[in-house]
Amino acid sequence: MTKDNNQPLYIMPEGTQRNTGRSAQRMNILAARLVAETVRTTLGPKGMDKMLVDSLGDVIVTNDGVTILREMEIDHPSAKMIIEIEKTQEDEVGDGTTTAVVLAGELLKQAEELLDKNIHPTIIAKGYRMAAEKSKSILSIIAKKIDNDSILKKISETAMTGKGAEDSKEHLSELIITAIKKVKDEDSQSIKENIKIEKKTGASIDDSELIQGIVLDKEKVHSGMPPKIKNAKIALIDSAIEIKSPETDTKISITDPEKIQSFLDMEETMIKNMVEKIKKSGATAVFCQKGIEDLAQHFFYKAGIYACRRLKKSDMARLSKATGAKIITDLNELSKEDLGSAGLLEEVKVGEDFMTYIKDCENPTSVTILIRGATNHVTDEVARAVEDAIGDVSAALSNNKVVAGAAATEMRLSKELHDYSQKLSGREQLAVQAFASALEIIPKTLAENAGIDPIDVLTEIKSNPDKFEWPGIDVFTGKIIDAWKEGIIEPLKIKTQALSSAAEVATLILRIDDVILSDKKSSFMPESPDSE
Ligand code: ADP
Ligand code: MG
Repeated sequence: MTKDNNQPLYIMPEGTQRNTGRSAQRMNILAARLVAETVRTTLGPKGMDKMLVDSLGDVIVTNDGVTILREMEIDHPSAKMIIEIEKTQEDEVGDGTTTAVVLAGELLKQAEELLDKNIHPTIIAKGYRMAAEKSKSILSIIAKKIDNDSILKKISETAMTGKGAEDSKEHLSELIITAIKKVKDEDSQSIKENIKIEKKTGASIDDSELIQGIVLDKEKVHSGMPPKIKNAKIALIDSAIEIKSPETDTKISITDPEKIQSFLDMEETMIKNMVEKIKKSGATAVFCQKGIEDLAQHFFYKAGIYACRRLKKSDMARLSKATGAKIITDLNELSKEDLGSAGLLEEVKVGEDFMTYIKDCENPTSVTILIRGATNHVTDEVARAVEDAIGDVSAALSNNKVVAGAAATEMRLSKELHDYSQKLSGREQLAVQAFASALEIIPKTLAENAGIDPIDVLTEIKSNPDKFEWPGIDVFTGKIIDAWKEGIIEPLKIKTQALSSAAEVATLILRIDDVILSDKKSSFMPESPDSE
């Protein structure tokens, strides 16, 4: 008997699992939507916080979408794609991550309904792409120009509303805007690099300060060094101030006892010479990226020079920008011209620890915001909010365009897209409409998170389309407001970036109809009871 006909044909290794067609789509959409659902409750000023405990027991309490998704260690392949959005959003703009993820989740939910109506994924993908393109042009028309500084302040305050920094948002916004003006950079990435955020517990958030220079979480290497130097001359060295120990095990045999002493003397002379070179340049303070050995510390102390060691590379770069010093590798090359200057250098006891302030720099292009708070959890969360605000203000400055928040932009966009869809024919029309409806997830979520009935506010906005130019939700009172007039302002770039990345990832996930998983990853298959 020939049984060949019934023999299964294996083209993949045993244990590989495959999930195709509608079932694959459903699983992928579900996984991505679960991620969106998780962060959804944190959106907006009334969003809740999440407590995350990592494998070491460290606790983070946050409202920040990026932080949550990063800490969750998500493993599902399509859920991971959603998390990629968050990364792009964070890198490109620095805020709006929750918005992007929530929107992507809703785009997929709407797509699922179209799939159920037998609309092909490529049509949905095409419609979504058309809608995303159209959104960009609508947004560039409705966006407003930044014509005064008070708008920047409002952007910063909007970014911090409802975060741990809420109560001090005015004070912090002032620090942020002064800092951004100081560093004078064009693109948001370098603005972020040149504003150092340093955190220290033990005081209230209102005690946070802007330092025209750099604050280092470092103390001087020798207690006898001067605690305070006016008009400090600063040398930045990125090589170790020590005698290099040989790379390989080396034996030096000394036969004559006298030679031991001369050997030690020689070492001492070499170190002394190194310190001497720095002293001769006229430096009164030295910051070293590598180590400073004990003997060198002693000589610096003798010379009355302030020294810190093992600085971060990024701090070296910032110090260079703040003080004008050049980073030197070879001490022989150090000269007076390479030194930077600071009006005041001092070691200050902040909370429990000593920190080094290099401040009162003349025209520093790198500055520090020192965040204070009662506990580590507070300072961490305030720092995250401040980083968001810095991202928002610099994103707004990058193209000088802003829109109103509190869901006003999404509502206007949704309406315009519905109008646009009327002019389309074919099935893409349905996809564009679905995209327009998906935008309503933002007002819905803001309302839900504030305990306001989402249907009520949506109908109220829609039934009075001309009442306000920027109809948004006041999450504190539940009323419909003109978000622009209320000063709820956000950079245009947040919205365009969130829209395009949400649309991109949604179409990417939609177009997958075949998932092939190796043995190890089979827990992601629908058959398995859970995906632990
Ligand atoms: P994201 O990670 O997306 O930035 P947030 O939790 O920061 O998420 O929330 C941003 C949303 O909150 C935006 O839609 C913004 O317009 C809205 N928002 C900010 N301030 C207010 C306010 N005072 N009233 C209503 N909505 C606000
Ligand atoms: Mg935000």
